[in-house]
Amino acid sequence: MKYYESMQELIGNTPLVQINHLISKEGIHLFGKLELYNPSGSVKDRIGQYMIADAEKNGFLKPGSTIIEATAGNTGLGIAFSALNKGYRIIFVVPTKFSLEKQQLMKAFGAEIVNTPRELGMLGAVAKSEELKAQIPGSVSFEQFKNMSNPLAHYETTGPEIYDALDGKIDYVVLGAGSGGTFTGVLKYLKEKNPDIKGVLADPIGSTMGGGEHGDYNIEGIGNDFIADTMDMKLVDEVIKVSDQEAFEMSRELTRKEGIIAGTSSGAALAAVQKLVERIDKGNIVVIFPDRGDRYFSAKLYEYE
Ligand code: PMP
Repeated sequence: MKYYESMQELIGNTPLVQINHLISKEGIHLFGKLELYNPSGSVKDRIGQYMIADAEKNGFLKPGSTIIEATAGNTGLGIAFSALNKGYRIIFVVPTKFSLEKQQLMKAFGAEIVNTPRELGMLGAVAKSEELKAQIPGSVSFEQFKNMSNPLAHYETTGPEIYDALDGKIDYVVLGAGSGGTFTGVLKYLKEKNPDIKGVLADPIGSTMGGGEHGDYNIEGIGNDFIADTMDMKLVDEVIKVSDQEAFEMSRELTRKEGIIAGTSSGAALAAVQKLVERIDKGNIVVIFPDRGDRYFSAKLYEYE
């Protein structure tokens, strides 16, 4: 008999696929980690599962609890997915910047949405979630930016999956960071296995996380005006700054040339790969594609100038 006992079992063990048409340089091999294959469509299913299991084990989350979380959308989906049928009330605080589709999907999973102004960024959403927590009895917040189950999920699952898929033959890993859980967990695991593996942070122009001036940008899910506790900057060997235009264009190219429908943070990571490849002449590069592209129609990802 070959079947899964529940959708929850489909979290993780995502495919790693060779990227054949986007970068053609002899000696360079590029592989994409398809985190968009997780059941709710993003890398965040992993941490939803870890944070809920951890909170239930510690007694922090109890029957009847209200979960309140500031999220760009994917973390909300990951939490809502793992909380299905458990009887929790769920409220997500989402800056208006983030895609309508993600907000609609969170509602489809039974969550309530509170929006905060785009200009206030994630810090505005975090402040609002603190305010709601003070008002609603029995409410808890996982605080993904401080919750060590977040990087742990990637240290224990995403990192080993990547290492095993390539038998450890990895030179560079390129990805963006929001909470930094993915970056930190994956790079910590890989560098423990082989300290020569380089972590390259793809950071939007306008995010101050990787340096540079603060500004507005449309790439979703990565970059921040603060460095979360869950982000270990010591694991970053290099930062490559990426513009909205470069990221959106690379997401479209990824769909047109490889058949991978991925979001704008995936495009940002690929744009960083493109810049990296101009400077190196050999190596195996892994790029992480955190979420699905078909949740960015309203963000005009597929509208061509
Ligand atoms: N890409 C997208 C689309 C995301 O939603 C997120 C999480 N905000 C990330 C990348 C970054 O993941 P992490 O929080 O693990 O740094």
